[in-house]
Amino acid sequence: MASIGIVGAGTSGLHLGLKLLSHGVPVTVYAEQDPEKLRAGRLPNTVAHHSPTRARERELDVDHWGGPHADIQYMGIHVNGPQSLSMRGRLEKPSIFVDYRLYQPKLAEDFVARGGRLEVLPVDGAVLEGLSLKHALVVVATGRNGLTSLFPRIPELSPHTKPARLLFAALLKGVQMQDPLGMNAHLVPGQGEIFEAQIVSRQGRVPSILIEALPGSDMAVLGTRRYDEDPRAYEALLLDALRRFAPATYERVNPAEFGVLSPMDWLQGAFTPVVRRAWAPLSNGRFVMAVGDTHVTNDPVAGQGANAASASAFALAARILDALGRERPFDEAFCRAAEEKMWAAVAPATNWTNTLLQPPPPHVVDVLAAGSQEQRVADGIANAFMLPENILSAFASPESAAAFIAQQRSPAREPLPPEALAWHPLPGEAVAPMARVR
Ligand SMILES: Cc1cc2nc3c(=O)[nH]c(=O)nc-3n(C[C@H](O)[C@H](O)[C@H](O)COP(=O)(O)OP(=O)(O)OC[C@H]3O[C@@H](n4cnc5c(N)ncnc54)[C@H](O)[C@@H]3O)c2cc1C
Repeated sequence: MASIGIVGAGTSGLHLGLKLLSHGVPVTVYAEQDPEKLRAGRLPNTVAHHSPTRARERELDVDHWGGPHADIQYMGIHVNGPQSLSMRGRLEKPSIFVDYRLYQPKLAEDFVARGGRLEVLPVDGAVLEGLSLKHALVVVATGRNGLTSLFPRIPELSPHTKPARLLFAALLKGVQMQDPLGMNAHLVPGQGEIFEAQIVSRQGRVPSILIEALPGSDMAVLGTRRYDEDPRAYEALLLDALRRFAPATYERVNPAEFGVLSPMDWLQGAFTPVVRRAWAPLSNGRFVMAVGDTHVTNDPVAGQGANAASASAFALAARILDALGRERPFDEAFCRAAEEKMWAAVAPATNWTNTLLQPPPPHVVDVLAAGSQEQRVADGIANAFMLPENILSAFASPESAAAFIAQQRSPAREPLPPEALAWHPLPGEAVAPMARVR
């Protein structure tokens, strides 16, 4: 049978590869590095997988970390500005954070155990041309930094020409985790956003932080000042930012113990969100497709990049399976049709991300204000926040915002019972240091 080549062993490449393998298609993944190297490397991100991605993971039988001890059961949203407000909504379908240094190597092992071929081969343009002759189709899944220049930027879908935020992400110590497990989004007008969560890491479950600083703001110092130049001084700045802009997190900090968990557990940088064409012709007449961040790079502010990458991988897999089944060529017509389906799968995530990067209009503030006063509305917001289609339709206009609030208030929507939320220690995890904060 015709084989498919995938360049890049990240989330999009592995979800695509595992999905094709499950249909009996021979797949080779070309990985830049041995999965072991990734395990020992620097924190690459702090990724939340939401319920649609988790459903795909169950379908692929790679949901190795889920369970009551790891599932994120609620989301706190705090607007910390002149008009402060706070809410905590309960997630009907929990999200999960797993350190990608655990996640991606484990999925690469699953891929091999199920008959996939994994070759360690950093691929450049010349190598790609060669691979395109070996496989019926080669898909480029090299993330936002690899081989992207093959795929032209689409200006009308890419409103950003420079980074919208300066980023700092880290695993932390000295922050009490919340009970039940939750995440907090601090939205700080004029400054950016601070996200605090709990992530399954090789050290067990630990607190994590993502700073999204607006360039030019006070908080931007966390993006412009290098952490490794003076870690202690940087941690003092970080602590001060939590005190000023994220009080619901700061109240659980023990300043004497606070800091980055270990020297490889931080990441700093900035990148420009972009939508690229999802296919490219090669000089040998073959066509290659792009998936994941190589196709669409979103800012992490909405926690959607990997979720969209997975959705897009499944959309592309469906097109590949269809073409193989009907013995159709992987030509330009295939690429255009596949791109349309992939964009349909990821466009809501991109639109939601770009919306969140802008100051909220008054009707969105009204929805958040209603959520701060009524638990049912808070639950509705938290659940919609993870699902771009739902939140975009709620926030689309003053009328849709009012309809969303009314729908959440409807008695037909029962709030979740309190016993649905509970603290479940990981095996061997000490519960004592994590005071039960409600
Ligand atoms: C701080 C931060 C927080 C984030 N939080 C979230 C979140 O909460 N939720 C969410 O959904 N997304 C989040 N994201 C985005 C998410 O990390 C990406 O969208 C996702 O990892 C994209 O998957 P991918 O497979 O396209 O690329 P990657 O996961 O980056 O994988 C690309 C792979 O290709 C390999 N590669 C690169 N070049 C080559 C080459 N030349 N040859 C062979 N292999 C190559 C790389 O080694 C890597 O293994 C976050 C990102 C950051 C930076």
